[in-house]
Amino acid sequence: MTDCRPQCGACCIAPSISACAALPQGKPAGVACPHLTADIRCALFGTPERPDVCTSLRPQPEMCGDSAAEAMATLIRWAADRTARSMIAVHSLLSVQ
Ligand code: SF4
Ligand code: SF4
Repeated sequence: MTDCRPQCGACCIAPSISACAALPQGKPAGVACPHLTADIRCALFGTPERPDVCTSLRPQPEMCGDSAAEAMATLIRWAADRTARSMIAVHSLLSVQ
């Protein structure tokens, strides 16, 4: 099992998060979560307010890599891949209409 790397925070910065109780406006990609503390910890850790998406996210080698910079690059690439996949799906829908 991979442990969360101290002083990383890449998954609290790189991805977007949908609106929820803790983040009423959601969080845009590439912007640090307002609940990320100055020493790169989650201020909501262990509380019921922490978003479900954060609680269910587990550190994994494919995502976390060997450094915060590597994790950030991977998460940005994954977000771009998701956007590309959505655009391809939309284009294929349009092309059959
Ligand atoms: S990317 Fe991985 S190591 Fe970095 S904060 Fe998230 S779970 Fe922890
Ligand atoms: S709520 Fe906590 S774990 Fe979730 S993105 Fe914000 S700082 Fe990170």
